[in-house]
Amino acid sequence: GSSDGTVYEPSKVVIIGAGPVGALAALYFAKGGWQVTLYELRGDLRNPENRSLNFTKSINLAISERGINGLRSVDPELTESILEEAIPMHGRMIHDNTGKQSSQKYDVHNRFIRSIDRGKLNERLLDELEKLTNVELKFNHGLKKLSLEKGEAIFDRKLSNGAFESVRVEADLFVGADGAHSQTRQHMMKYVRLNYSQEYIDSLWCEFQMPPHPLTGDFQLDPNHLHIWPRQTFMFIALPNQDKSFTCTLFMPENMFKDIVGPETLLEFFNKEFPDVVSLIGEEKLIADYLKNQKLPLISVKCNPYHYRNKCVIIGDAAHAMVPFYGQGMNCGFEDVRTLWDHISTTLTISEALESYTAERHPDCVVINDLAMKNYVEMRASVTSTGYLMKKWFQEFLYNWFPWMGIRTMYSMISFSNIRYSDVIKRVKRQERVLGIVGRAVLLGGIGVGGYAAWKKGWYKDGLDILMTWREEVVKAQAKLVKDIMAKR
Ligand code: FAD
Repeated sequence: GSSDGTVYEPSKVVIIGAGPVGALAALYFAKGGWQVTLYELRGDLRNPENRSLNFTKSINLAISERGINGLRSVDPELTESILEEAIPMHGRMIHDNTGKQSSQKYDVHNRFIRSIDRGKLNERLLDELEKLTNVELKFNHGLKKLSLEKGEAIFDRKLSNGAFESVRVEADLFVGADGAHSQTRQHMMKYVRLNYSQEYIDSLWCEFQMPPHPLTGDFQLDPNHLHIWPRQTFMFIALPNQDKSFTCTLFMPENMFKDIVGPETLLEFFNKEFPDVVSLIGEEKLIADYLKNQKLPLISVKCNPYHYRNKCVIIGDAAHAMVPFYGQGMNCGFEDVRTLWDHISTTLTISEALESYTAERHPDCVVINDLAMKNYVEMRASVTSTGYLMKKWFQEFLYNWFPWMGIRTMYSMISFSNIRYSDVIKRVKRQERVLGIVGRAVLLGGIGVGGYAAWKKGWYKDGLDILMTWREEVVKAQAKLVKDIMAKR
């Protein structure tokens, strides 16, 4: 085995947490020939009785390229069949205070993100694992203790009568995928000098269901958009579901939740801020959902390293829980698994693999964690600002007309590519410099041409003709300028 850290061969791995990330990790290890046991605190979510237990996470989420690539790299067929049930979202639909909607496409080349049922995705992964002979699934097992030097874990197993029994387990490698409040991480801290920080943001979230149209049974809003009601300090969003309903989330500072003291203030608030939502959900249901559903916090976690020698590694939210505003939490977790597997399957020893995994992954996860935090502001406020829209338009214009410049919006690189998160940031910084220069060149060129036209021929009539003849020259000159600058960089 690999217990002395010198020779790598598939051996016994224990994965803690059967959420989406843990389940995907189990699939990678199992297909790589490891003996896999997956331990989950809660009951099997495929059993209808246990559904309510898993209700602290929103019902649907946005999956994009990184998540899909994580799935595809281990099982292309499963991926295709999972994606059949996902709903494409081509852009944001912004709803203003009067109920007016305006669409903002995510990508000039029509690439899209997808709304997917979180529970179903998790179930499909568990179903797949169940088919494999080298995988065991253990539900109702909560990690209590990890003795990494001994290669031993203790789980508390919940019995059907509600009592607990202690279960001792040995393994060569422990993979912690047990979410933001990870016990694996907690225990690993005793073995390694682990830097750790966490931050709760001031907003809470609360979920609502928008049913299909009562008469037609159809979607009440365009299903191919992620709907946003941005209101500066708070926002409401809606993602489509297969059954033609929408799952909606209100993100709002805690004190604003506190100001809503009963059904009347709730309706008053919604009628003022999201008037269209009131009729779409219906007053009664709006009130019922608000009273019934929890107001849950949002945590951001950073830590380093993600591993201890050849014994233990943490992935997904356990390593880097982030606020949900870039729609990347699970996508990043799936990318973790693919990256971890790349290291394990190409490095000679497990300790080297885990070491190089942390080294590659930590800077990337810090970047997306920070971007997610910044995007909270973008989603609830900037998407409506003229400056933001102009910049987006200009970037997309360059992406369309000057592809050789390699200009892409950050959103497109994060959501539609597998470029390392940290490289995305580097490219964006480089682009910003170029954009600044091009922007000024365009402005100066425009003023120059306009001035010349005005002087030479009189105002608008012939000015336009001259502009068109000159356009080619100006554009060529700009391109040369940019090329020179890029070459000198
Ligand atoms: P989790 O999903 O938290 O799973 C951890 C599992 O470990 C759970 O099943 C838990 O029961 C189990 N566990 C916990 N403790 C123990 C223990 N001691 N022993 C054994 N098992 C244990 N991400 C996206 O990519 N796109 C989105 O659009 C998106 N939207 C989101 C919206 C909201 C409101 C929120 C809150 C999150 C959103 N996310 C989104 C983030 C996404 O939900 C998480 O990143 C993802 O669920 C992480 O998966 P995970 O498997 O690492 O952790």
